Amino acid sequence: MGSGQVTDWQGMNVTVAGLGVSGIPAAKVLHGLGAKVTVVNDGDDARARAQAADLEALGIAVRLGDGATLPEGTELIVTAPGWKPDKPLFAAAHEAGVPVWGDVELAWRLRGPDAAPWLAVTGTNGKTTTVQMLASILEAAGLRTAAVGNIGVSLLDAVLGEEQYDVLAVELSSYQLHWAPSLRAHSAAVLNLAPDHLDWHGSMEAYAADKGRIYEGNRVACVYNVADKATEDLVREADVEEGCRAIGFTLGTPAPSQLGIVEGILVDRAFVEDRHKNAQELAEVADVNPPAPHNVANALAAAALARAYGVPPTAVRDGLRAFTPDAHRIAHVADVEGVAYVDDSKATNTHAAEASLAAYESIVWIAGGLAKGAVFEELVTKSAKRLRAAVLIGADRGLIREALARHAPEVPVVDLDRTDTGAMLAAVQEARRLAVAGDTVLLAPACASMDMFANYNQRGDAFAEAVRELGAGA
Ligand code: ADP
Repeated sequence: MGSGQVTDWQGMNVTVAGLGVSGIPAAKVLHGLGAKVTVVNDGDDARARAQAADLEALGIAVRLGDGATLPEGTELIVTAPGWKPDKPLFAAAHEAGVPVWGDVELAWRLRGPDAAPWLAVTGTNGKTTTVQMLASILEAAGLRTAAVGNIGVSLLDAVLGEEQYDVLAVELSSYQLHWAPSLRAHSAAVLNLAPDHLDWHGSMEAYAADKGRIYEGNRVACVYNVADKATEDLVREADVEEGCRAIGFTLGTPAPSQLGIVEGILVDRAFVEDRHKNAQELAEVADVNPPAPHNVANALAAAALARAYGVPPTAVRDGLRAFTPDAHRIAHVADVEGVAYVDDSKATNTHAAEASLAAYESIVWIAGGLAKGAVFEELVTKSAKRLRAAVLIGADRGLIREALARHAPEVPVVDLDRTDTGAMLAAVQEARRLAVAGDTVLLAPACASMDMFANYNQRGDAFAEAVRELGAGA
């Protein structure tokens, strides 16, 4: 199977690995195309059985409780993106010369000949925000578009659905990129690279290499972060189409072939005539919501992709103005007694929390949760001067407490020693006691939430609820 479109699926033996958000639709689509589909799944619980029964009713074979054995005669595996590459199923596939595609690869191969080009975004943090900003800019330019991929609409739906698109704003995770060998975007951006998901990828090098795949075969622009050299290295290593350009984004003054900031204005020195002499004003920093530095960087990356696609400067401004961030991403909850309460529950790793803390001058920091193997030394060292105090909750709070003791001993720390859901109210009450007018109480946990909450949404909601209680009592 080469890298082109597959036109004849009739009777092809396809194994779909994983009953889940990508596996079930993939199995149905392939079955509809005439392939002989077998779904394999590790789990065998009640939910899996119910899902299996639904698929079997359609004539799709399902094997529960065995995701390791390659079904006889398999010609192609379509895997859920989260399946780890070191699984025995993939070793068997490799041995047998069977290709493995992820959900993104499948969508890429199934799109029609006149399909909309993809503007793709990856990075450790900021993907969702950037893709939504990009879609908003493209819409402001009057284009038919959607934010798709690892967010909202699935790529399969976008590619096979009724809706006609001019261009797609595509969020891709490192897992999805790992399993998408023939994807070729119009243009793509890697926002930043910090250690994350290393247990899955095996090493930082492997993680970076998977992220770097997003640049392979780009036609117009490879967008990188000037402040994050690793992203520029990935551009250099990529094999791109003739004429494709490397475009940097920076919070500083842009050099030629870059987008950046000059005196509070987002400026384009890449997609202008005579970029050595000229620059194009795109928008004001105040047009970015919220105008925190990392979010302005996201806006510049989105603008770079939109400009690579040929969108006019006014659409960048209008699109950024029309954009509102998803919940729990630096969301301003309330001001109580002159103190701002900000919910960045989505800051689930240290890199995100660092960006979040950099956006405020004087902070009472609420942190803690599941560390997922992270270390907090650098985060604490870089943020120490902004910390009025820290309030710690959650299972791995001890790691943060120790880092604070080592690198910021002058910062008062309250260790709540609690992992129950109600601890959030106590944390907010402590934070109120420690904050003075002009401070920001910032929930940027630098950790996952599952020790105390169902997910980061629930954690953020608990914070907002606690702040409302404070406000009511104030
Ligand atoms: P992703 O889709 O990559 O998880 P989001 O846009 O949902 O990214 O943002 C997740 C969190 O990452 C935000 O709450 C914020 O704390 C942080 N963040 C967003 N953009 C950046 C960035 N450019 N650099 C560092 N951290 C960021």
